Amino acid sequence: MEHDTKAPNSPAVAGLVERTVRRLACAVAGHQYRVARRMNPGARKLVCARCGGAWGMHDATRTLVPWDDEFEAMYAPGGPLDPATYKG
Ligand SMILES: [Zn+2]
Repeated sequence: MEHDTKAPNSPAVAGLVERTVRRLACAVAGHQYRVARRMNPGARKLVCARCGGAWGMHDATRTLVPWDDEFEAMYAPGGPLDPATYKG
C-alpha cells in the first residue's frame, strides 16, 4: 500500500489558507480588537482575535501603530517605559 506524503490538503497549506482568509475578513470587516495588555492608564496593547495582529495604542498622542519588537523592548521590565517605573 502506497503512502501519499504530498497531499495538497496538508495542515501547513490549510493553515496558510486560513490565515489568508482571516486577514481578508479583517481587511473587509475590520479587526476584532481586544486589549491584551494595559501598560499604564494612557497606553495599551491591542490584539486582533481574528488575524492575530497587534498594535500599540497611546491616548495622549491618539496613535495606533503596529506593535513591533521596539515596543516590546520599551515596555519590557527595565526598559525606558517599564510600567513598573514609568507612569505616563
Ligand atoms: Zn484582524
